Amino acid sequence: MLTVDCRDVTLIKNELLVYVADQMAAIPTIKHDQFTLSALDDDDVVDAAEAVSAIREYLNSIDQGGNFAVVSINDMIEIRSITGKILEADPSASESQNNLYSCSHCGFVTQYEVELTTHMRIHYL
Ligand SMILES: [Zn+2]
Repeated sequence: MLTVDCRDVTLIKNELLVYVADQMAAIPTIKHDQFTLSALDDDDVVDAAEAVSAIREYLNSIDQGGNFAVVSINDMIEIRSITGKILEADPSASESQNNLYSCSHCGFVTQYEVELTTHMRIHYL
């Protein structure tokens, strides 16, 4: 299992998680400012190098590739701002929207993060 530290990019955490999990066919789980990626099969290993390149790809796709370093240390991947500028979710921005989680694959919406995580697994079977 890999842990991705998103504290400098909380604004794009959800999109990033979905993109990376999709690229790697891994099961994502959100934990505060981090998310983890687990292999579908217990015997499989989630490849850190593959995760790093998927994260870089995503950052490049939103023109942020030059602003963040993606560093992997053992089972931890850190996304760190190079410029000091971070992509932080605005806590004052629409509270109600922050309390909803929606599936980027089919649009399923739930109030509960854990329910969405469980739901998302059906797309990775
Ligand atoms: Zn779905």
